[in-house]
Amino acid sequence: MSKQKIAILGAGPSGLAQLRAFEAARRAGVQDLPEIVCYEKQSDIGGMWNYTWRTGLDKNGEPVHGSMYRYLWSNGPKECLEFADYSFDEHFGRAIPSYPPRAVLKDYIMGRLDKQAIFKYIRFECPVRWVTYDEGTEKFTVTVMNHKTGEQETNEFDHVVVATGHFSTPNMPYFEGVEQFPGRVLHAHDFRDALEFKDQNVLLIGASYSAEDIGSQCYKYGAKSVTISYRSNPIGFDWPQGMEERPLLAHFEGNTGYFADGSSKQFDAIIMCTGYLFHFPFLPDELRLQTHNCLYPDNLYKGVFFQNNPKLIYLGMQDQYFTFNMFDAQAWYARDVMLGKIALPAADERRQDMQQWLSRHEALAGCHAAIDFQASYIRDLNNETDYPEFAVEKQADLLKEWLQHKQENIMGFRENAYRSTVTGTMASKLPARWLDIKDDSLESFMSLDFVENKSFDK
Ligand code: FAD
Repeated sequence: MSKQKIAILGAGPSGLAQLRAFEAARRAGVQDLPEIVCYEKQSDIGGMWNYTWRTGLDKNGEPVHGSMYRYLWSNGPKECLEFADYSFDEHFGRAIPSYPPRAVLKDYIMGRLDKQAIFKYIRFECPVRWVTYDEGTEKFTVTVMNHKTGEQETNEFDHVVVATGHFSTPNMPYFEGVEQFPGRVLHAHDFRDALEFKDQNVLLIGASYSAEDIGSQCYKYGAKSVTISYRSNPIGFDWPQGMEERPLLAHFEGNTGYFADGSSKQFDAIIMCTGYLFHFPFLPDELRLQTHNCLYPDNLYKGVFFQNNPKLIYLGMQDQYFTFNMFDAQAWYARDVMLGKIALPAADERRQDMQQWLSRHEALAGCHAAIDFQASYIRDLNNETDYPEFAVEKQADLLKEWLQHKQENIMGFRENAYRSTVTGTMASKLPARWLDIKDDSLESFMSLDFVENKSFDK
């Protein structure tokens, strides 16, 4: 019998988790592993964590994937995304603070990978163009554009793992008069450097993480004022002077924005923090996941297997309280199904299982319940695989503390420290206020005199 072939689309944290899961099986002595090809649009691994200065199109004329910006720091405690098979202690050799900047987290993600073992599977600068499935041969055909050779390539696979992310294609609403606005109008996807907005009056439209964090960045780097316009409810933090929330924007006249409460204000720039679309231009209707950002997208059994065709696997499609360790949980489970270690139930049983989760999802009231829901989802996956045990429920408690700390001080929550549930190590503390630490490079961050917390017990 010929070897199974698996295509992984995307080499961000989710695709890398899938590669790592197979690598772990190989190290554990599993024979006859499938042949794997990972197609990646960019020229390096890391997905979103790969900072790019580019906006619009990349050097190959493909839409730029990156939505991350300079000075981005982890927006949640690192203790809640720690890999169970590779701790922060193992990587850094000492305690570091709980909210590292982007470059530090990227260093950690990369540090887990045996690059020699993993890079051989990855085909860089190969955006996936189209995927089809043949009911007769039971194989997928994947066509990619190989920008290195300038030619398209087509290959057949038994499984396809879609790990292309869902925070890359802007959802861009229209507001009357915006076309006459004299300043910059951009989506959060194209935001790169808060210093661009120094001394400006900035309007952010949206009330989610992007508005909260880009607003804080603009404040930190010297914007004259930051106004956040919400549709349904204000974010509700105790914002510092110079930051405020207003209800939905009604229209613009010149550089003046008029809000639903009758108020108005003049602005120099508008940043649409209005979310992202799930965008799979390489998938035909019958294979395409159609959903929005939520904790349990319908039609994904165990949150990963596409109901119409469970040989098609989606990773990381959930809204994310948990990130890296959730992708691991999914990747390990998906691996065991692809290896035949876990049998998938029939379609109606899968539907019943999804229905139970969807009913729980619908009944969720508040953020704490949502965090517990995602923790129990991860627990459900981990119960079935050999992914190292980790205290996901304790991490859920840390996420609740994180919410409380944000409520107490939105500009200072990153100064809190938490204990690792993987190693028991207490994080060290930042030596200064987050607002005052402006260099976010790996070298600068790691040369700070962190304030050590004493206890290292489990
Ligand atoms: P991605 O990281 O988006 O990777 C997808 C990969 O697929 C990319 O490499 C892309 O190039 C590739 N790809 C896309 N289309 C194709 C194609 N057609 N063909 C081939 N390859 C393709 N998470 C945290 O844990 N902490 C944070 O602080 C945090 N901050 C964030 C801030 C911002 C601004 C954003 C946008 C996200 C943030 N996240 C954060 C969430 C982040 O999305 C996840 O941490 C993680 O990057 C998701 O991994 P992924 O692999 O699923 O997707």
